[in-house]
Amino acid sequence: MPQRPPNVQPEIVQGDLTEAQLEAHLASPDLAVDTETMGLITLRDRLCVVQLCDRAGRSTLVQITKDTLDPRTPPAERAPRLKKLLEAKHVLKVLHFARFDVAAVSHYLGIRMAPIYCTRTASKLVRTYTDRHGLKDNLLELLDVEMDKAARHTDWSSTRLSPEQVYYAISDVTLLLPLKDKLAGMLERAGRVELAERCFGVIPVLADLDVLGYPDIFVH
Ligand code: MN
Repeated sequence: MPQRPPNVQPEIVQGDLTEAQLEAHLASPDLAVDTETMGLITLRDRLCVVQLCDRAGRSTLVQITKDTLDPRTPPAERAPRLKKLLEAKHVLKVLHFARFDVAAVSHYLGIRMAPIYCTRTASKLVRTYTDRHGLKDNLLELLDVEMDKAARHTDWSSTRLSPEQVYYAISDVTLLLPLKDKLAGMLERAGRVELAERCFGVIPVLADLDVLGYPDIFVH
């Protein structure tokens, strides 16, 4: 029987990390990151939540409030501690489909997230025997964990997130680092580690193109 994701209780903050949370997360070499938004169109659907989790299970949920996104504040000044963390060169940010989250934090918070590791990209490079590259499929196959996606389509801009929303949001990051370890081993075996690194390097460019409205610039 597959396991449930671990029941991690995040610290919840509004607007930005605290100084203590920033210091704690800066101390880890890699960090799982995910975001929740109002939808899939970055320019239209605002960023609502940023979730973080390290290997020790320390996790933080940052609610991006409407005040945070006040148009009079330049994006890069809206969440300076989160910006510092997500741009820290010695902290590898691990995401599933990084392209989307990189675009969202760039557009709404002026954050140039780097360095990044995308588990969806890694999955596509090594799990060539399937076309199912969702987080749920990866966790089930590689970690024997069954995710519950029930709270996925909910209002993430709500000022008070429900316990179900918090559980769902955090379960998207609690297993990303173990998943990355599995996929890294598979990339090694397949001889595709360097190719993966080069793919990760392209993701910020794709994210910029997405925000500007060029979805398929390389397609004939
Ligand atoms: Mn998510």
